[in-house]
Amino acid sequence: MTELRAIRGDITTLDVDAIVNAANETLLGGSGVDGAIHAAAGPELRDECRELGGCEPGEAKMTGGHRLPATHVIHTVGPIWRGGQHGESEVLASCYRESIRLAAGHGLATVAFPCISTGTYGYPQDYAADVAVAAVREAVAEHRSIREVIFCCYSDYDLGLYTERLA
Ligand code: ADP
Repeated sequence: MTELRAIRGDITTLDVDAIVNAANETLLGGSGVDGAIHAAAGPELRDECRELGGCEPGEAKMTGGHRLPATHVIHTVGPIWRGGQHGESEVLASCYRESIRLAAGHGLATVAFPCISTGTYGYPQDYAADVAVAAVREAVAEHRSIREVIFCCYSDYDLGLYTERLA
């Protein structure tokens, strides 16, 4: 059984096999959690990302963690919220699913996610939490080598949303 739990904290401090980055399509760094991850990992992360040639929304790509305590970073690109009728939930679910699939494919056991798309990309936090928890539950049922998934919330509000859904 995979353990799913929610914590409040800074994802860059977590000592897990992989932290997931809510990146943009260039994979060259940005604001929010993306900026924090690049700042903590050091310039070698950006160098490695440059070789990846970008990433489509809903896809995921892996790099090393460089100066982070996490050994890997999984970069995924969430949907930009445009009212909910433009396939946003499918793309967001795909981010979580593809990240878990990539982690399992590399033999990783512990993965931490931020609240993808709910910052600059404007996805309503409660809808995003519904999608995230459902998609992760589905993905770990398929990839049983994943031992633990952490939803790393940056606010008490997000932590409340995830705590409710995981109860
Ligand atoms: P997006 O562009 O996908 O919306 P953002 O980085 O703007 O990405 O926001 C995604 C989420 O990441 C937000 O909930 C934001 O509060 C959170 N966040 C920002 N910095 C960190 C951090 N260091 N650790 C964990 N979560 C963070």
